[in-house]
Amino acid sequence: MTTVYLNGEFMPIEDAKVPVMDRGFLFGDGIYEVIPVYSRQPFRLREHLRRMQANLDAIRLPNPHDETQWTILIGKIIAATMFEDQSVYVQITRGVDSRRSHAFPKQPKPTVFLMTEHLTVPSQQQRAQGITAISAIDNRWLRCDIKSISLLANVLLRQLAVDTGSIETVLFRDGILTEGAASNIFAIKDGVLLAPKKSHLMLPGITYDVILELAATHGLARQLRDVSETEVRNVDELWMTSSTKEVLPIVSLDGRPVGGGKPGPAYTAMYGWYQVFKQAVMRNE
Ligand code: PMP
Repeated sequence: MTTVYLNGEFMPIEDAKVPVMDRGFLFGDGIYEVIPVYSRQPFRLREHLRRMQANLDAIRLPNPHDETQWTILIGKIIAATMFEDQSVYVQITRGVDSRRSHAFPKQPKPTVFLMTEHLTVPSQQQRAQGITAISAIDNRWLRCDIKSISLLANVLLRQLAVDTGSIETVLFRDGILTEGAASNIFAIKDGVLLAPKKSHLMLPGITYDVILELAATHGLARQLRDVSETEVRNVDELWMTSSTKEVLPIVSLDGRPVGGGKPGPAYTAMYGWYQVFKQAVMRNE
């Protein structure tokens, strides 16, 4: 039995029902977070909660809970499952209204939903051999920094990858790399880590920050700047990063090999640093 949380109550997932007048259902009017949990400890929880607050501010929805209340709630949902490693999903919408009207309800009562799933990590084969990606024009709106539940464009873009047997879609806007359909993208060229600067055109990934911190700690040169599509097609390594995938090497883009067509040395180093860092965080060092 899967236990979820909805508006103040824990219940079996089958019993969790949201009215059709919920603005999340009608308009995609809400935001979400995905928090990885290792050995029942949420990873980078404070950062996830801060990003959630920034998202709520961006959509002008008051936060229904403070950081302590969120921490308790997330702790409870983690305890309610049998999995040691999980991904906790949190969704907040602008709640139920009596009419379908674009304008905000006068006194919104947010719908708060949490569920947790077994953390599905990349396979050993994906880590050893790398994954394939395709590219597409980034046709999303201009507020990709908001972790909005309105994910139609991301869904369609990601499906392009699935349809061609790939794992991710790498997005370019006006010839410049933005991110993946569900990840941030990093590149390595001549030993330098390249990534787009945070802006409204990409999600400020929690993993993106971890990667940059680890690069700084270990003296990996890095440049945050516009990376052109031409550059991306000539890099030595390409990585995708996200909370559930951590860092994964992309070894083929649009059917052409990236660098040597296999996971590169910088990826191997970064993956190792990530694991050591994660273990240290989990031991509260
Ligand atoms: N960009 C997009 C569009 C995403 O959906 C995600 C998360 N799946 C990311 C980047 C990575 O963010 P994080 O590292 O916080 O998971």
